[in-house]
Amino acid sequence: MARIVLDNLVKRYGDDEAVRGVTLAIENGEFTVLVGPSGCGKTTTLRMIAGLEEVTSGNIRFDNESVENLPPKARDVAMVFQSYALYPHMSARKNMAFSLRMKGVSRAEQERLVQSAAELLNITALLDRKPRELSGGQRQRVAMGRAIVRNPRAFLFDEPLSNLDAALRAQMRIEIKKIHQKLQATIVYVTHDQVEAMTLADKIVVMRDGRFEQVGDPVEVYQHPTNKFVAGFIGSPRMNFIPARLVAENGALSAELRDGTVLPVPRGRWPAYRPYADQAVEIGLRPDHLTDRQETNAPSCHFLDATIDVIEPTGATSLITFSIDGIEFAAIADSGVPRRPGDRIRLRADMSHMHLIDLASEKVIAPDCSTA
Ligand code: ATP
Repeated sequence: MARIVLDNLVKRYGDDEAVRGVTLAIENGEFTVLVGPSGCGKTTTLRMIAGLEEVTSGNIRFDNESVENLPPKARDVAMVFQSYALYPHMSARKNMAFSLRMKGVSRAEQERLVQSAAELLNITALLDRKPRELSGGQRQRVAMGRAIVRNPRAFLFDEPLSNLDAALRAQMRIEIKKIHQKLQATIVYVTHDQVEAMTLADKIVVMRDGRFEQVGDPVEVYQHPTNKFVAGFIGSPRMNFIPARLVAENGALSAELRDGTVLPVPRGRWPAYRPYADQAVEIGLRPDHLTDRQETNAPSCHFLDATIDVIEPTGATSLITFSIDGIEFAAIADSGVPRRPGDRIRLRADMSHMHLIDLASEKVIAPDCSTA
């Protein structure tokens, strides 16, 4: 498997820049997920790695070898698409063996490789069926099998699960993760689904408008987003963004909302946040940290009383929507407590998980973890 390096990669279509100079190292055996909203340049980046799209400028290296001028075949990567792209008149077995046959691999070796991939994918019993006799999930497994038998230098996945229903998507996510753990393959995977990105990735790359906004371990990106876009894009339900003013009084900092509510700022954040004293800012707080759980009352917690607008049960918990002074908030509450829209609810804001966002740059101000 290959280590892949993208070096200042640019793709222009006429005057439009779809990819604006991105740089990234994908380690050998790493599962890297490119995630971002529609049109941000994920597929274009993947297709440049595959050789299906010409590079406008910049460099792509597989294990220190420049490949940007090599045709797709010579790059030895395998792509798996949303559309499966199987030959309809061939059985699953023949689809999987096709590239091996083209390469002149012996029949016995073809059979051995197809059997081994089929076992990994749990499709041994389906090998003699044509694609039309298979479900969407089974077809996608055959498409993956076709990629696996080639033993490529890297697997490139372009939204492979988008045609599947939610339950099957969740199941296939687990399958793909298991396959990665077994094969230790270098994978670059494109999706617009941040849950898919979080669950699959060793390394997550959040894209916006042709640029990489943040690259990192999924938990790191979730806990420490570097800007408002990443903070809002990663995490479901979405982070609350609350307009506030940072107030300094007797050396202590707090955040005053527009309706006069005062939220405490944890003491450990004061040194990092002090330059924002007396300034308008935004506070980011995930719904998971605005809940009806009341078990502790640490100094960085604050109780808010709200009137429920909407309740969306999601199972053990419900998503509660309410507004304060025209700003809509989402919170998480126990579904076991009977509640209706219009009811009052007491919520606990755990400010130890707050983010401070600079209004002009939309950067999240680093909380200075060493003193937090
Ligand atoms: P999606 O999730 O919708 O597939 P994406 O993030 O994969 O989106 P790309 O398909 O990479 O986005 O497209 C990035 C930008 O480049 C878009 O603005 C798109 O319209 C443009 N683009 C892509 N292919 C071409 C092309 N062949 N000619 C002109 N513009 C293109």
